[in-house]
Amino acid sequence: MTANRIYNFNAGPAALPEVVLEELQASFLNYGNSGMSIIEISHRSSWFEEIIDDALGRTRRLLNIGDDFKVLFLQGGASLQFAMVPMNLLAADRSADYVDTGTWSTKAVKEAQTLGKTVNVVASSADRSYAYIPRDIAFHPDAAYVHITSNNTIKGTQWSRFPDTGNVPIISDMSSDIMSRAFDPAPFGVIYAGAQKNIGPAGVCMVIIREDMLQRVPESLPSMLKYTTYAAKNSLYNTPPVFAVYTVQLVLKWLEETVGGLDAMEALNRKKAGRLYGCLDTTGFYRATADADSRSLMNVTFRLTNEDLEKQFVEQAQVNGLGGLKGHRSVGGCRASIYNASTLEAVDALVSFMEEFERKHG
Ligand SMILES: *Cc1c(COP(=O)(O)O)cnc(C)c1O
Repeated sequence: MTANRIYNFNAGPAALPEVVLEELQASFLNYGNSGMSIIEISHRSSWFEEIIDDALGRTRRLLNIGDDFKVLFLQGGASLQFAMVPMNLLAADRSADYVDTGTWSTKAVKEAQTLGKTVNVVASSADRSYAYIPRDIAFHPDAAYVHITSNNTIKGTQWSRFPDTGNVPIISDMSSDIMSRAFDPAPFGVIYAGAQKNIGPAGVCMVIIREDMLQRVPESLPSMLKYTTYAAKNSLYNTPPVFAVYTVQLVLKWLEETVGGLDAMEALNRKKAGRLYGCLDTTGFYRATADADSRSLMNVTFRLTNEDLEKQFVEQAQVNGLGGLKGHRSVGGCRASIYNASTLEAVDALVSFMEEFERKHG
């Protein structure tokens, strides 16, 4: 680890691979011998054309998606997608099924309702503070889509298997676990992800949309709020966030060429999460908040025996070079976000600190 850098367990924006940061630094004064910074080049230049095309190609290869999907770069974060999904894909005479697994899915439901759309919350884990992923859900076979949040960043839960929705396309917010594991893209109509958790910096949102979904987009929407606008112009209808897209490209290159793809990434993510949950499970001093069968491989949420101890834990960890371990302000407790870029070394350092902290305070 480079001097003065901490082990970063922030939930988002979050840790990025150090090699990517070094490459960004090198591109900052003179990108690819252009004589210009990466943030000074034109989005219409051949330099940027190569960047975006490379990022799209890598996304297709990594996720194993065919030509029936378009990959788009939008702004407005995942939060704008909460509104764009129903605006574009849910007609007034149709309804959509939503699964409520906590904060972000709750917001997605609210945005659809604000637009006056018909939303059925077919399952929710609100009854136990969203500590689990609902099973055996009865979906409506005539729903326009089923919306889920694949990984619940704040509650620390994750869908280990995606639900069987029959012919109804799944739309998933994958902001906090995209590219963390391999999966079959066939049942998905749309996958969207704010980049700042697992694939880049804040400022860009990846939207992967199946061609047939584009036929639903009403002409009447403003250009910037229509998926078809971005699909027709290869995400270059207006100025895209050049720096953010470039960073995503570098992260995907790292994933493909250094990590070796999503199977290898998943194996490493399982190993990291396994060590952390292993530590939590061996003692009564720490308690994982999510049910064992619903635990996230990305956001490990846990409590100590009291809030005062939790405060000390977070402070002491910071002093020891372990940052970002405070739980989301809405739930309290502690959270270690261990996205793709957080290393086994970082997790081991955290586990050692936790064991030491327990020895002193247990
Ligand atoms: C962080 C997060 C969001 C919000 O993303 P923005 O890009 O800030 O709008 C939405 N969904 C999930 C699952 C998240 O983790």
